Amino acid sequence: MLPKVTCYGGVGEIGGNKFLLEDEGARVLLDFGAGFADGADYFDSTISPRGVNGAGDLFEFGLLPEMKGLYSEKALQNTEVKYAEPEVDAVILSHYHWDHTGRIGYTDPKIPVYCGETTTLIHDAYSESSGSPLDGHAIRKFRTGDRFRVGSMEFVPIHVDHSIPGAYGFVIHTKGGTLAYTGDFRFHGPAGSMTRDFVEGARSEKPSLLLTEGTRVSEKDQKTNMSEKAVLDEATRMVEGTKALVFSTFRGNDVDRINTFYHACEVSGRRLVVSMKIAILLERLKADKSLRVPRVGRDVDVYLRRKKTGRLDDSDYYAWERPFVGRGVDAEQVRKKQGEVFLHLEARNFPELIDIRPEKGGTYIHAATEAYNEEGEKEESIIRNWIEHVGFRYSQLHASGHAPRKEVEELVDGISAKKVVPVHTEHPALFREFKSRKWDLELPVKGKPISVSA
Ligand SMILES: [Zn+2]
Repeated sequence: MLPKVTCYGGVGEIGGNKFLLEDEGARVLLDFGAGFADGADYFDSTISPRGVNGAGDLFEFGLLPEMKGLYSEKALQNTEVKYAEPEVDAVILSHYHWDHTGRIGYTDPKIPVYCGETTTLIHDAYSESSGSPLDGHAIRKFRTGDRFRVGSMEFVPIHVDHSIPGAYGFVIHTKGGTLAYTGDFRFHGPAGSMTRDFVEGARSEKPSLLLTEGTRVSEKDQKTNMSEKAVLDEATRMVEGTKALVFSTFRGNDVDRINTFYHACEVSGRRLVVSMKIAILLERLKADKSLRVPRVGRDVDVYLRRKKTGRLDDSDYYAWERPFVGRGVDAEQVRKKQGEVFLHLEARNFPELIDIRPEKGGTYIHAATEAYNEEGEKEESIIRNWIEHVGFRYSQLHASGHAPRKEVEELVDGISAKKVVPVHTEHPALFREFKSRKWDLELPVKGKPISVSA
């Protein structure tokens, strides 16, 4: 049987990567994520799939493949699909973003998950705080330079730069041919050279097929390609130009962004104050010698939200939060030194501003993707109302986790596989317009196998 790859997600959509790779009886999944638009016609922030029905509510709308030997007994208990011992040998994870991990929680914990060493630390932090989709699975870790086998297949993981540490692309040798999978990547982050390592590494293994992301391959991607360095320069300018409080919303596992704002604070003599969830992530990532992260207590403080009794008692907090309570600052302390603080505040925690009572004239930095759908626009308008209410300046400042179209094109040309399959993009057909086109384009179809040939 010729090796083949079947896409069960990431087809004409951003995220939701679920690729089944089969070769000589070995079967692995490359990522098993939730799509951003997954089920958006049926579910939203009000209506969500019932956890108690396992995979059933997702099967109903074809949001998960009804594959035998993949899911846990618990995920199948209320469904028509019968439980069977695993027929999938492994889930190989590119990085710890929800659109790549989000459905692993439904899979049989007897199936091991392979991921980068840094990802295991991120998993530990989430596992302790809010739970992780990898919980219960045996975890096998790798680093760049390793090679590992699953059945007849040999995997060569190569690091890439992305908006979360521990991101990888892969070269995979099968009996019938070699393929490469990019995961998510960019060149404009602090570790852009890692993506160039991937391009070089993949090219040298001469893959016949390339599965590449194309998030920003779109007619509409007019955004200037801001680098993380440009975010630092701009943030430093904003912080230096503000006398009152500065606060910002950004993705808590974007370690580059945490470093960026930490450095902007260092230059201007402010103190970065982060959430407990960021604090535990930074604590766990200390163990990674190749990463530089600010130290909790020494470099950054932790914000104490009022919970349960509202008195900031130790017992108000979960066990994992308690070690941070003694090192924390509360709303009153932030209020007293507003001009010296840069606060990380998720939109859902904006009511904290009522306790902080910030003086007018501060700066708010929305350091995340701009709204791209109706739900996002609604959230943005609510955020703007809050910012206006406290009398702050609203600024948008963000470097994307993904390469712009031109750089995707350069990567595809650089790797020079015979066949290119665009995934993790809403516009796979736009790859037709790429200039060089020394390769064949195959547009993926959900559930239809693509053969990998030499
Ligand atoms: Zn990602």
